[in-house]
Amino acid sequence: MTLAPFACDPVRTRGRRFAEATAPTRTDYQRDRDRIVHSSAFRRLVYKTQVFLNHEGDLFRTRLTHSLEVAQLGRSVARTLALNEDLVEAIALAHDLGHTPFGHAGQDALNDCMAAYGGFEHNLQSLRVVDELEERYPDFNGLNLSFETREGILKHCSASNAQALEAREPGGVAQRFLPPSGPDALRLQPSLEAQLCNLADEIAYNAHDIDDGVRSGLITLEQLREVELFESFRLETLAQHPQLGDAAQGRRLLYDTIRRMLSAQVYDVIAATQQELARAAPGDAHQARLAGPLLRFSVDMRRQSSALKRFLYQNLYRHPQVVQTTDQAKQVVRDLFELFLNDPKMLQAGFAARALALPAADRAAQARVVADYIAGMTDRFATREHQRLTGKAFGGEPLKSALI
Ligand code: MG
Repeated sequence: MTLAPFACDPVRTRGRRFAEATAPTRTDYQRDRDRIVHSSAFRRLVYKTQVFLNHEGDLFRTRLTHSLEVAQLGRSVARTLALNEDLVEAIALAHDLGHTPFGHAGQDALNDCMAAYGGFEHNLQSLRVVDELEERYPDFNGLNLSFETREGILKHCSASNAQALEAREPGGVAQRFLPPSGPDALRLQPSLEAQLCNLADEIAYNAHDIDDGVRSGLITLEQLREVELFESFRLETLAQHPQLGDAAQGRRLLYDTIRRMLSAQVYDVIAATQQELARAAPGDAHQARLAGPLLRFSVDMRRQSSALKRFLYQNLYRHPQVVQTTDQAKQVVRDLFELFLNDPKMLQAGFAARALALPAADRAAQARVVADYIAGMTDRFATREHQRLTGKAFGGEPLKSALI
């Protein structure tokens, strides 16, 4: 299909860090997507927590199913706006590759452990996975992805890490996180495709966390009535299908409400963005980057989506039962970090070799190897390693409701 002039065109890509011949039948972004799908980090997403720990039930979202939902939503919007669907898919499938085991709890714990050594940021880690940590090619580390895919993966970056990245790759993916300078004294946005993935991420997790939250029994349909975005569509569903008010109908009311919510948000993003694009009229992808954020919700939908986020934060992510299991998960990460940093020989062979090749005095570099190793673990691998090395069993009991 024909791309809009402001879409990223693979013919005009800023290219890969290591030059490669083009593929005979695939564009660079299709190739990026394929490399991501075949990576080891991608396969590990299936055993990584989104909100609920992986062992808590078989039907909850994992990082993998979350990433697939982000890709589906993103591609759907991209096709309507004539943006590059392949690039959106590549970014969406890679956006969470750097996540630790145990979701945000694992990330917070690893960030605490790394406080004296430069910290741990999951977006930056996703970039490290595709730039450095995958070992599949004879001539380079990482997957050697296109600039535009890497730019989309680095959604956030602290100023200090951006400086370090910029030193290695001047004018590269970290530039937009540095204070603006020079004649283009405007903060650069990422491509429209990357902006779209950020919104698709938010739409996806808001919706699936309601689904998983209700499935787990930690939040109820009754509680959700205070959320305007949910309640308005629940009432719409009930008006058209009054029989769904009957509990014997199971979760059909929930699913239909969520489906309507998703559609409304997708159509809202499309309409609001079309307006922005008509106003800014970017002539190409670079002009779109200079035009401020163009991918957006309407003002009203932004307000409603933020209210839903706040509800989920207060009622699900901070639920005592979630906090209790995540506290245990944090302990696993802290114990593993301490063990490996004190004795790098205990790391898996490749990581051990990397750590042992470093000067013993370079504690920060050694800590980074340990963080790379732990971040790559799945929930169950981290739990098993912890048990093997400490003899302590991870006490997380499956949620009863989740077993149904
Ligand atoms: Mg995500």
